[in-house]
Amino acid sequence: MLRLLGLVLIIVWTSQGPALAQGSDIRLVFVGDVMLADGPGRVIRSGKDPFRHVAGALRDADITIGNLECVIASSGKPEPKPYTFRAPKQSLRLLKKYFSAVSLANNHSGDFGKGAFSEMLKLLEQHQIPYFGGGRNLRTAHQAYIREIHGKRIAVLGYNGFFPRSFEALEDAPGIAWLDEDMVVAAIQHTKQTLGVDFLIVYPHWGWEYQKLASPRQRQLARLMIDSGADAVVGGHPHVTQDIEVYQGKPIFYSLGNFVFDGFSDRDTRTGWLLELTLKQAGDMSWRINEVNIDAKGVPRLSGRVEQTATSDPQ
Ligand SMILES: [Zn+2]
Repeated sequence: MLRLLGLVLIIVWTSQGPALAQGSDIRLVFVGDVMLADGPGRVIRSGKDPFRHVAGALRDADITIGNLECVIASSGKPEPKPYTFRAPKQSLRLLKKYFSAVSLANNHSGDFGKGAFSEMLKLLEQHQIPYFGGGRNLRTAHQAYIREIHGKRIAVLGYNGFFPRSFEALEDAPGIAWLDEDMVVAAIQHTKQTLGVDFLIVYPHWGWEYQKLASPRQRQLARLMIDSGADAVVGGHPHVTQDIEVYQGKPIFYSLGNFVFDGFSDRDTRTGWLLELTLKQAGDMSWRINEVNIDAKGVPRLSGRVEQTATSDPQ
């Protein structure tokens, strides 16, 4: 039977990282692209919660991170591009409930212009929802989200490498952090060394849509990130999940796929990954990938399958 082909695996890969005291594992959850306009926006406006079926998995972690692939605002006009996403303000309450922080580094947070983007920054701050990968200027857009858990400092950096580049933050203008090699290397080194972070994850928005394998450019950038000091790379944007690689003992999840998103009809685009990364005692790291199925309204449910399709060898 096809079912026996063995896509169901529990991954227990280990990788050297910061040592932790007994009994103090740190659990991090990452999901892919969270688009709260269109179908999910209608779910939210009707008073329902598109995260309800995955609530336990999102909240059962020390840090939960997602990519907010829309703007939340009432102002602005759509930019001249094929798809523009503006989510209702009721979304803020849900983000606060489920996420420790959200990345704004993507190709939709600027869909309604810089004014709407700035309105979103203010709304996120009012609701005490930390964000990264975007900010009021270049400097703040490139700052990491940092939290201390069990005495260890954990950081996440967000970047977008998919056009339009006009969404980029400038010296004196709000916007997102662009995936610029020199800036990425500088931010990783600064965050690890100067800010004394023990474990750093880069969360890039990149790659070609609908490609199940990462591009040579993604591979080159991921390696550069790890060579610069990143402990893991967790990507998104292609609307499908991509392959996994272990480089220098550090995992690279090229794309987690969609998480809350409608407008897709085939299995690959309606499948996403909820990644649990656990920093263990003695410095080991393990991970587990839970598959989610996304319905026609863009609402995810855990399929019950723990899946890993990478063929990389820890050696
Ligand atoms: Zn995207």
